[in-house]
Amino acid sequence: MKLLDGKLAAEAVKEELRLQVADRAVNGKKIPHLAAILVGNNGASATYVAAKVKACEQTGFISTLIRLEENVSQHRLLESIHSLNQDPAVDGILVQLPLPKHISEQEVIDAIDPQKDVDGFHPVNVGKMVQGADCFVPATPLGIMLLLAHYKIDTAGLNAVVIGRSNIVGRPMSILLSANSLPGNCTVTLCHSRTKDLAAHCKQADLIVAALGQPLFLKKEMVKDGATVIDVGITRVEDTTKKNGFRLLGDVDYENVAPKCSWITPVPGGVGPMTIAALMKNTFLACSRK
Ligand code: NAD
Repeated sequence: MKLLDGKLAAEAVKEELRLQVADRAVNGKKIPHLAAILVGNNGASATYVAAKVKACEQTGFISTLIRLEENVSQHRLLESIHSLNQDPAVDGILVQLPLPKHISEQEVIDAIDPQKDVDGFHPVNVGKMVQGADCFVPATPLGIMLLLAHYKIDTAGLNAVVIGRSNIVGRPMSILLSANSLPGNCTVTLCHSRTKDLAAHCKQADLIVAALGQPLFLKKEMVKDGATVIDVGITRVEDTTKKNGFRLLGDVDYENVAPKCSWITPVPGGVGPMTIAALMKNTFLACSRK
């Protein structure tokens, strides 16, 4: 078993970006600027946004963090987005999800200028991704593609199973893996909560991407020998032995599945850091396109 080390691969992506930003600075070109909007006090969301701001510092990007109260009106949030859309200094905009229940996530996503939609959730970018056109690809599936590329995993012709069909992970992942690209060219099965005999689908897979948010869901009996397993899941479970009171669990029963795999991602230190590296890559792209 070999580790797909997301921390290591993310550092490589960020270092490449840092050098490119330094080069832009020397040549008097614009420095990438990411604006993040965080609504409310969700602990996990605050941690993710802080990690994104830190990655901006590491790579030499400019970042702006806008914090809004949990009870902020949708109108007020949309005003913030409109003003960032119009600000020529800002290259990329991200609104950390999930949003409080009284706000429509879709209306918020639709309000972001597609040219600044570095999360790749706007319908224009989703449509272009499906067509294989130039666009912003959602950060988590893009990060997984970068990870596979970093470790030179040859995915052509593989049977891939993606578990989970969300708009931000599973569905775009299935599209990217099936695309005529490198990595890509897989034969993809997209499984979800209504899939019959999910274990049978997984058992024939050369590559499994688990993105369902059910801790330790993928068991060793569901994985064939030599498979590559990507664990997207992150669930906080209470752990009184930890200083912060919780630990993170993935969707894969890592301890028992790992010995059967040719490649596997750990949690933490797998897909998480790659998601952030991919977001940085999208923001750099937004800036350099101008
Ligand atoms: P989601 O809740 O929006 O979607 C989950 C999907 O899994 C659904 O499509 C559902 O049909 C499917 N599903 C749920 N239970 C199932 C079951 N028992 N069998 C088969 N399919 C089932 O979740 P999401 O936003 O796609 O996130 C999935 C997981 O990935 C979560 O743990 C989330 O925290 C994590 N995540 C991690 C990163 C990262 O950077 N590592 C990024 C995004 C999401």
